[in-house]
Amino acid sequence: MPESVNTHFHSSEPFGTPTFVREILNNFSCRSYIGGMRIRFALPLLLSCVFLVGSPSLASDMALVGARIYPSPAEPPIENGSILIHNGHILAVGPTATIKVPQDATVIDCKGLVVTAGFWNSHVHILTAGLLHAEKLSPEEVTSQLQEMFTRWGFTTVFDIASVLQNTALIRRLIESGEVNGPKILSVGEPFWVKGGTPVYVRSFLETNHISIPEIESTAQAIGRVRQQIHDGADGIKIFANSIEQNGILTMPLDLAKAIVDEAHRAGKPVFAHVSNNQGIEVAVQSGVDILAHTTPSDDLWSSPFAERLTAAHMALTPTLTLWDVEARKGNPSSDQIEKGMSRAAQQLKAFSQARGQVLFGTDVGYIEQFDTSEEFTWMSRAGMTFQKILASLTTSPAQRFGYSNRSGRIAQGMNADLVVLNGDPAQSTSAFSRVRYTIRDGKVIYSKK
Ligand SMILES: [Zn+2]
Repeated sequence: MPESVNTHFHSSEPFGTPTFVREILNNFSCRSYIGGMRIRFALPLLLSCVFLVGSPSLASDMALVGARIYPSPAEPPIENGSILIHNGHILAVGPTATIKVPQDATVIDCKGLVVTAGFWNSHVHILTAGLLHAEKLSPEEVTSQLQEMFTRWGFTTVFDIASVLQNTALIRRLIESGEVNGPKILSVGEPFWVKGGTPVYVRSFLETNHISIPEIESTAQAIGRVRQQIHDGADGIKIFANSIEQNGILTMPLDLAKAIVDEAHRAGKPVFAHVSNNQGIEVAVQSGVDILAHTTPSDDLWSSPFAERLTAAHMALTPTLTLWDVEARKGNPSSDQIEKGMSRAAQQLKAFSQARGQVLFGTDVGYIEQFDTSEEFTWMSRAGMTFQKILASLTTSPAQRFGYSNRSGRIAQGMNADLVVLNGDPAQSTSAFSRVRYTIRDGKVIYSKK
């Protein structure tokens, strides 16, 4: 987020103070037929598989060879495995000895490397200077910024949860036409906030960039805007259940939140809620919001019953733990104060995760300028999340939540060839999740570490 936004924060008191409250934004594969009991009736399919593998390859054929492959969070790794990609999809995955690579396929040697499904970041903003006013940027400039923010960290899909829809839609078209390399972008477009509820920390940013996001004055106006934004290509809706203002926190009235959520759900779209305190979470739960955009470290810790209530309401959560660290540091606190505040946020994630809540990896990148994902993984681990749980938050959980399970989130035949090749095994050390060697989307290498 541009510096103009940061100028709102001047504090020497970090976590747990009113000042801080204002500061935080707050298989179906050849392998299974060869190895499985179903080999007899599956033989014709096996033959067709072999036929496909042995047929003349197209330019799009690619093979990742010799990797440790984690097909999904629930499956054991395939040692010395290979993945065959054809026309942007996964044609086969299994032990290298069982995969016949066409002679003219592009082969990527993955010996010593680890492959998982492509990552999702479910809380980003297409708002940096390198992406705003995209009509004035060259394709190279847009590719470069998308690389710095997303593709070099393994993201093949991102959910932008507040930006300028017209600009984000333009970037999405540039990516889909192939002019620009980038992730698949889902977007909510402009967020919804109540009258007087434009967050204090975005006011000057919006003004400087000539961006106008109307405040909601009536239910009818809100419903009209939900319909318009979905008509214009929005994939979801974002409400500010709480807005941080100069003199405190403004909470969206429940009936207004409910009207917005109901209209989005009528169109089959998910609703995200920015929350800053438990009152905002209450509005989100009661109005039927789908995803909480943040934990709330400046309010009470989350008890087990509280976390279970969120889970019972089918609420998902993007923890954005890195955000709290970034915001707290603006007040120049001691390391002890930061540790205390971060422990609160981690406790909330821990309670939610232990209540079997659906965690969606999300960092608020684009608002924060810290693109590196390693800190988020460290804090997720400290919140007690295992390698499998973190991998699920990056892959299967968002794919399931947003309706993409049949093509995204797992490495299996027929799935989109969205893959991350890691220089290290995240099952051994979560820091390996941020050591990306290649990012592949729809069978195309969109990032390669030099
Ligand atoms: Zn955000």
